[in-house]
Amino acid sequence: MKFESQVIHAGDRKRNRPGAVPSTTPIHLSSTYFYERAETLDRIFGHEEEGFSYSRYANPTNDALEELATVLENGHGALATASGMTALQLAFQAALIDRPHKIVSSGSIYGATIKLLDQVLGGFGVDVTYVDMCDLEAVERVIAREQPGCVFMESISNPLVRVGQIDKIAELARAAGAAFIVDSTFSTPMILRPLDLGAHIVVHSATKYLAGHGDVLGGLIISDEQHHESVRSLSRIVGGSLGPFESYLTMRGIKTLAVRFERQCQNARKLAECLANHPCVERVYYCSDPRHPDAAAIQRLFRPGMFGAILSFEIRDADRAAVMAFMNRLKLVVPGSSLGDVHTLLLYPVMASHRDISPKMRERMGIRENLVRVAAGIEAVDDIMADLDAALRGSM
Ligand SMILES: *Cc1c(COP(=O)(O)O)cnc(C)c1O
Repeated sequence: MKFESQVIHAGDRKRNRPGAVPSTTPIHLSSTYFYERAETLDRIFGHEEEGFSYSRYANPTNDALEELATVLENGHGALATASGMTALQLAFQAALIDRPHKIVSSGSIYGATIKLLDQVLGGFGVDVTYVDMCDLEAVERVIAREQPGCVFMESISNPLVRVGQIDKIAELARAAGAAFIVDSTFSTPMILRPLDLGAHIVVHSATKYLAGHGDVLGGLIISDEQHHESVRSLSRIVGGSLGPFESYLTMRGIKTLAVRFERQCQNARKLAECLANHPCVERVYYCSDPRHPDAAAIQRLFRPGMFGAILSFEIRDADRAAVMAFMNRLKLVVPGSSLGDVHTLLLYPVMASHRDISPKMRERMGIRENLVRVAAGIEAVDDIMADLDAALRGSM
């Protein structure tokens, strides 16, 4: 089945229960399950038979979403979690069971993930080393030196949309015996599938493209067999699973992922082209740019013709106050700090995602005071561009 059909059919309409088959999976709010005979529950608790017993262990609505996510990412199994951050925490913990408590991570990752690594895991003695994942020689050197238990990166970096060679890094991580985790939130399984490229675990903030409508906070962990068992065992103990209502909304969202994301990528590409020629714009960062520093990796790893729906651009001669004034002039574009929604969102990294990073460090990361990030929605692209244009020209 093609991706466009999988998003609609996988996980749903299960026929293994007696009676009528609901055409969409219901929201099962029950916390506990029992059976005609106590012996059945006994076998389920004893792992001799599959079945539902308690919703922290498994829930039929979550089960359907997890089956869908497993199919889309070509994994062995999935776990739906209460947020993307919960997914990351469980993934790191599962990866480090029986491995050295050392992580080699990309330096350009989601801000809260840096805090999770440094403050939460670091506080429990996990040693974290950051490296530029787009510099393969540096990655090789650092992995050889650190001998980490886990290697981590994002499929498309934020906000400068850099793309590392996931398949080559997977080889390096595997050769060192490390678990390789990829946060694929920005690419979605429509652009690339990290498990097919050699990752052990792929993580999503389902809050973004998968749920897609700005009304769900959720995460997903999809893993190979070995790591899925570890993730499940951990979550049986600590919980952190997604609520069934949010699971339902996420599954409903995923049904339109293929059409939404295709439109979002098209819109982003057109916006990138228009903004590149705009008198108020100094520079545009987008993955379709033939001069993109990772053009070869993008060409090799991405689904042809799709370059993601995130672009960033620098406003000519704008300081912090000028960027704020630009944001205040937006009428259609939502100046909110998320991405992946049906409406176009604009984020100012210096104010939001990269606020806690020193100006000097930000400069070194290439995140300037005049940089804004756009997450293209599915509106008519002319309306989005007209809104950006009016807001940009407002100060001219
Ligand atoms: C939003 C995001 C997260 C965190 O997800 P939440 O659902 O907000 O917990 C992690 N990684 C990336 C790349 C994100 O964009």
